[in-house]
Amino acid sequence: MAVKDPNAVTPMMAQYLEIKDRYPDALMFYRMGDFYEMFFEDAVAAAAALDIALTKRGKHLGKDIAMCGVPHHAAEGYLLTLIRKGFRVAVTEQMENPAEAKKRGYKAVVKRDVVRLVTPGTLTEDSLLNARQNNYLVAISDVRDDMAISWADVSTGDFHVAPISRVTLGPILARLAPREVLAPDSIAENLREIVEEAGAALTPLAAASFDSTAASARLKGLFKIKSLDAFGNFTRSEVAAMGAIVDYLDITQRGKLPLLRAPVKENRSSVVQIDAATRRNLELIRSLSGERQGALLTTIDRTLTGGGARLLNIRLTSPSTDLEIITARHDAVQHFVDDRILADITREVLRRVPDMERALSRLALDRGGPRDMTALRDGLAQAATMAKSLAKNLPALLQHATNDMQGHDTLVDLLENALATDPPLLARDGGFVAKGFDATLDEARKLRDEGRSVIAGMQAEYADITGITALKIKHNNVLGYFVETPASHAVKMLAEPLSETFIHRQTTANQVRFTTVPLSEMETKILNASGQALEVEKGIFARLRTDIMDNAAKIAQTAKALAEIDLAAALADIAVGENWVRPQMDASRAFTIEGGRHPVVEQALRRAGDGPFVANDCDLGPDSGRPVWLLTGPNMAGKSTFLRQNALIALLAQMGAFVPASRAHIGVIDQLFSRVGAADDLARGRSTFMVEMVETAAILNQAGDRALVILDEIGRGTATYDGLSIAWATLEHLHDVNHCRTLFATHYHELTALSKKLNGLRNATVSVREWEGDVIFLHEVHEGAADRSYGVQVAKLAGLPSAVVERAKLVLEALEKGDREGSGKAETLIDDLPLFSATPAPVVRKISEIEEHLKQVMPDELSAREALTLIYELHAMLKN
Ligand code: ATP
Repeated sequence: MAVKDPNAVTPMMAQYLEIKDRYPDALMFYRMGDFYEMFFEDAVAAAAALDIALTKRGKHLGKDIAMCGVPHHAAEGYLLTLIRKGFRVAVTEQMENPAEAKKRGYKAVVKRDVVRLVTPGTLTEDSLLNARQNNYLVAISDVRDDMAISWADVSTGDFHVAPISRVTLGPILARLAPREVLAPDSIAENLREIVEEAGAALTPLAAASFDSTAASARLKGLFKIKSLDAFGNFTRSEVAAMGAIVDYLDITQRGKLPLLRAPVKENRSSVVQIDAATRRNLELIRSLSGERQGALLTTIDRTLTGGGARLLNIRLTSPSTDLEIITARHDAVQHFVDDRILADITREVLRRVPDMERALSRLALDRGGPRDMTALRDGLAQAATMAKSLAKNLPALLQHATNDMQGHDTLVDLLENALATDPPLLARDGGFVAKGFDATLDEARKLRDEGRSVIAGMQAEYADITGITALKIKHNNVLGYFVETPASHAVKMLAEPLSETFIHRQTTANQVRFTTVPLSEMETKILNASGQALEVEKGIFARLRTDIMDNAAKIAQTAKALAEIDLAAALADIAVGENWVRPQMDASRAFTIEGGRHPVVEQALRRAGDGPFVANDCDLGPDSGRPVWLLTGPNMAGKSTFLRQNALIALLAQMGAFVPASRAHIGVIDQLFSRVGAADDLARGRSTFMVEMVETAAILNQAGDRALVILDEIGRGTATYDGLSIAWATLEHLHDVNHCRTLFATHYHELTALSKKLNGLRNATVSVREWEGDVIFLHEVHEGAADRSYGVQVAKLAGLPSAVVERAKLVLEALEKGDREGSGKAETLIDDLPLFSATPAPVVRKISEIEEHLKQVMPDELSAREALTLIYELHAMLKN
């Protein structure tokens, strides 16, 4: 007997290793029958990440091969987990069926190849994506120090490009929140920190992917154009970035390119510049704790479709600086505010609009199924209905959208006739083409169904012949159709004359199974008819897909139009429901907000039943002559809320929404900065104070005269005089050099003196009332400076032990006395005060009261009875 060579590699393993060799950075899903299997280190890593059993299969070079697997039908869920945990997955499929392989020889291995590289930035499946958020893939290029960024969402087809610099890279990544960032090998490592900070995975690519000449050819090929000028003027670096995106899609989708729309170039000046720290601070998309709940987006999102929600996200993260665009958006919202009936009808239709963008992208990648087609059928039909109901006299933006929603009647008719109302998810098993659409299909289905009823008839006939009432005709994948009788009848069935008709196939514990010649013949007929029906259905699917793809650009436009209408109607809904007003916008330097509110705090207070939100005015405009406000006031009075509400009002106005105020007049801003002193950033290994200063420096260096700057408690993270001096100089710089509209909150009362020197500075404070030693917050902002900080009272409200509160009061008094007298001996004074640890303050008071009482007593004059009464009194005083 031949001894097996321990180093021999099986043909299947050889195939596995060959494919795996091409995808060293990805886990490989290797399709075997109904499973995706993983081997070697991939199996070890995946088993741990997915918490599934690690087994083994055979040996390789004398060692066990580790293996784990996931069922094919449940693969999406496992993929999602792996992608979330930072893996990339190469999906390898069988490119032929085993029968075809056998034709090449008894031992031939089924051909397999990678059909798709699944990465975080290239997902299209609904189950792997958040419907209300874009999933961006970003490429950053650097051609001789000229940098550009391109971003695309494969699941919707959006494709953009913009010039950037080292300074603007962080802010734009924070805005896009991409899942994956591509960069050339040469700069990838330098970008790692900034990319990972934005929460994205970094994928370095060879320089060839970013070659601008190749990129240009790639783009021209993709969009079937002669020159890229058709889309605008692009720098080499911009072309390189766009080309890298297309190259990467080609690699990951294995040649099947998704439907990308023509690239849109974004100029830096067209959107409000907002950096990462400001976004975090203002809690636009996520709250400071990282959740969506409690962020502005979730609070104001009343959109009804995935496309509308994604558009809101885009607008909120990139408000416009273009007055014309802003006004057009306000006009659209106004239209729905004015016509509530139209708004209700529109929103009713929107509720039934499926996510056409994502359905279309799956169909483009040949990954779609019948339900993606019905999504388009239903979505386009609803769009036509809506276009009819939106009457004439529309503002420009709605008029454009309405125009874009029409003209799909032929395709809708075709899809309506062709597709079943509620088709199965996959095209694979057929059953999605409507009856009456195709005569050949109907004929094949009839034969198949007739065959099935003939078989039902056979069952009755065979029961009759054999006299076995329990006889059944059944079907399974191994035997096909068969006659089954209980085992107790086996003897009779296997004996003549029945054995002449019934041919034995199988005996199980309780049953005996047979076939008959007519049954086999009928089965063949059914199989042929089913096979034929399936072929016809597949042909129809392919034809419909081609028809859809021929109209893809127009369908995508309709989807965008629906999103635009959804957003306008949603913003109108919140404007009416929450009493928001249309802001007056112009190119002036105005910033007049009357009755402004913080949308998130207002809703939170209402939900908690915590009294009404107190609306406040703010005027940083030229008429007021005071573009810089210095806000002092106790902790908890509402300073931060006031600061942020004004930033949010500006942002909402420029994204095209109405605003939470009774009146607003805003001269367009082009930069928004918001900083809060002393925010920890331990993860990045920077001290609290360092972070604060780096962020302040960025503002002072970058803020132009159209910026809106919000500074909250700058200088808090260091010693008092250091902090005060920095806050002082910062305020002066903003006032004298940056000349921007500024709100500056501080607990350094000393700064209020600056208003005498700086013409453009106004002191404002939030009022509180003191009542029986406690503070009551009124949350009203008015001109003036806070008289003091009320820190100790606030601490008392917070439940600090009363001993600590009393002690703090004493220390504060001593410090203030030291300051007043200029003795500088505060420490000595404090040392003289009794320490609460030795004699807790409340006890001190009681003992001194008892002493007072005793001093009044003349012992000689007391009767025994009086003495006893005194003892009772003293005892009671102590107890009280
Ligand atoms: P700190 O200096 O401690 O940060 P602050 O003065 O900045 O305090 P905020 O954090 O703005 O105070 O507000 C504290 C709380 O007061 C808020 O969470 C909110 O519940 C309430 N509040 C703030 N402003 C208002 C308002 N205008 N109307 C009603 N409640 C308000």
